[in-house]
Amino acid sequence: MAYVEDLLMEVKAKNPAQPEFIQAVHEVVESLSLVLDRYPEYRQAKVLERIIEPERVIMFRVPWMDDQGEVQVNRGFRIEMNSAIGPYKGGLRFHPSVNLGILKFLAFEQVFKNSLTTLPMGGGKGGSDFDPKGKSDNEVMRFCQSFMSELFRHIGPNTDVPAGDIGVGGREIGFLFGQYRKLRNEFTGVLTGKGVNWGGSLIRPEATGYGAVYFAAEMLATRGETLEGKTCLVSGSGNVFQYTAEKLLELGAKVITVSDSGGYVHDPAGIDRKKLDYIMELKNIKRGRIKEYVDEFKDATYTPVDPNTDHNPLWAHKADCAFPSATQNEINAKDAQNLLDAGVYVVSEGANMPTVPEGVKLFVEKGILYGPGKAANAGGVAVSGLEMAQNSMRYSWTREEVDNRLRMIMKGIHQTCVDAAEHFGTPGNYVNGANIGGFLKVADAMIDQGLV
Ligand code: NDP
Repeated sequence: MAYVEDLLMEVKAKNPAQPEFIQAVHEVVESLSLVLDRYPEYRQAKVLERIIEPERVIMFRVPWMDDQGEVQVNRGFRIEMNSAIGPYKGGLRFHPSVNLGILKFLAFEQVFKNSLTTLPMGGGKGGSDFDPKGKSDNEVMRFCQSFMSELFRHIGPNTDVPAGDIGVGGREIGFLFGQYRKLRNEFTGVLTGKGVNWGGSLIRPEATGYGAVYFAAEMLATRGETLEGKTCLVSGSGNVFQYTAEKLLELGAKVITVSDSGGYVHDPAGIDRKKLDYIMELKNIKRGRIKEYVDEFKDATYTPVDPNTDHNPLWAHKADCAFPSATQNEINAKDAQNLLDAGVYVVSEGANMPTVPEGVKLFVEKGILYGPGKAANAGGVAVSGLEMAQNSMRYSWTREEVDNRLRMIMKGIHQTCVDAAEHFGTPGNYVNGANIGGFLKVADAMIDQGLV
């Protein structure tokens, strides 16, 4: 369609050093061409042109002092992408790779994801190129305080509500919240992922991983199957990995891999509860490296990342399901082919955009059960939305209540994807389903609210 091609050319020209953002827009716009063909009013109102342009981008200096007394300077960002259906909502990422393009891709994806949850949340994302690895707790605290000293003036419980992402967990949210509370002199639900005894929701830490597993279970149910007895490849070893593995174990599946940016572990016997507890302590408390796992559990093997190879051997082990839970573009085209060759027919993305476009194409063509991140990992932000609701009520729900709501939301997202894909003539295509299902509500709200 010439209109879509022209639009993509313009996006490329306008955002030259932002490949991840262009990749994310490309995928969404391709799916949406089906909608634009049928409903020309979206094209007339230039909804696509508007939805790909952030409402606001904030970029700032974050100076802080390290333990040696030396001044350090990082860059902070907040992308306020779209607030047509609710306050901006999305995580903060602290990782040396963070730049404007990566955060714009994440904020863009977040708009559709948040819409799919059915909760009233717009889309945003932020973070810094600060690397928490190897930093002391005091250094992390000083950095978070400096970061919030600028961010606080742009956010608020009815404006923009950040949460965690890579490199931002309970510890960082605590330091950020403390500084916000001091500067504003108010205790409000301005961040989610808070500690449970100071406004956090039960199940928030678990939500993204549990949600990705619930989504996989829903996809399998369409074929009359369950996760019981399935062998699963899971990447990462952080928040999303840990609770994906926990839920998979609970449902009788077997997890045989775990990784970090240094390499991956293959444990053919399966990562059981005891081994998962070891990983949680290693990563959340000792803040160690995953290679230490094989010193403790001798039957497992560790393979360091090889910069000279064209694929990640983690994705070549024989299995039924894959849950990429580390970072963007971690499954390249060769990895996608290796997954298919290894027998994998369920991919549920805990990470955001972990599969390159050629890989996505392969999965869709093969007709496997492929749940893209903006649908499969929406459980995290869904429970963040529930945390906001509980904060507004000044009340907390029980674990069971939150988990049931999470399960119902994931079921609803799955159904929305199935229905939208079918309605637009591509049954079983969860990529189209998620993009279209997420788009319609935001697009209609933008039209209702006029040209703002
Ligand atoms: P964590 O920081 O808790 O863990 C990230 C894990 O991924 C670590 O094991 C890390 O290894 C690894 N990793 C990060 N970057 C790279 C890289 N460039 N190459 C290889 N490995 C890498 O983050 P989360 O678990 O929270 O996030 C994981 C993914 O899930 C991200 O894509 C995030 O956007 C997505 N997500 C997270 C949500 C949440 O609620 N937390 C919600 C929705 C999506 P190392 O320690 O060596 O860096």
